[in-house]
Amino acid sequence: MLVTQQDKKTVFRFAPSPNGYLHLGHAYSALLNADLARAAGGRLLLRIEDIDETRCRPEYEAATYEDLRWLGIAWEEPVRRQSEHYDDYRAAIAALDAQGLIFPSFESRAEIARTSPGRDPDGAPLYAGASKALSREDRRRRMDSGAPYALRLDMAAALERVGPLHWDEAGQPVAADPAAWGDVVLARKDTPTSYHLSVVVDDAAQGVTDVVRGRDLFHATGVHRLLQALLGFPIPRYRHHELIADDKGQKLSKSTRATGLRELRAQRKSPVDIRRMVGLA
Ligand code: GLU
Repeated sequence: MLVTQQDKKTVFRFAPSPNGYLHLGHAYSALLNADLARAAGGRLLLRIEDIDETRCRPEYEAATYEDLRWLGIAWEEPVRRQSEHYDDYRAAIAALDAQGLIFPSFESRAEIARTSPGRDPDGAPLYAGASKALSREDRRRRMDSGAPYALRLDMAAALERVGPLHWDEAGQPVAADPAAWGDVVLARKDTPTSYHLSVVVDDAAQGVTDVVRGRDLFHATGVHRLLQALLGFPIPRYRHHELIADDKGQKLSKSTRATGLRELRAQRKSPVDIRRMVGLA
């Protein structure tokens, strides 16, 4: 019998941002997703997370494809590029706005830092909430005046709507804590989306069943789970893997060349060597 793509119900994805060259940490995440997809008889999708138009560059995107192919990873075409789907994100904002859960804030970064009641799991200042008190007319007037703004989720109102939430982390239930992010930014005047919103919209649009990504995104999953509940999206399973550290125990970054896949390739390392280096031999 012919197996069609629709029969392959398990869907994994690798979702890099083309704001630098891939390093060993990306190789680990991509290879782990590919291995798990193969073992499950599932599909592997590739998504290019390029909403940050000031930092993402076409040459990094081209290098991403080249490095992944060199590693021996095969993904389904077409690749989803987030910058081509702004209408989907606008529609999601509109759906949340229709539930009365979106408000614009107008404070500068400095003002937010000065009045912040604490920090979010990434260490950024939480928003104190002053713009929430503006009347509908004031919001309209300030937005129409051309002032920069962020569109935020009214966290208290959103939590009231959905109640306690959990996600499946490698087979174990984890309690989601979206409140730790406060009135999280979902879009801005100049970018109709954010990391959190586009990941949730795309995972649903692409039918992703299994999200396998770095430990650094563990707490973000609380916000993702909340947005899925508010938008009526299916809930993927999650697995947040450990991060590959450099030989000094530091987190890898796109600017440290020692662990860049291009550099390793230039040193005549093979894809098998890379597998060994990340513990996936
Ligand atoms: N684009 C994100 C990154 O490169 C990953 C997003 C995700 O896997 O949810 O860190």
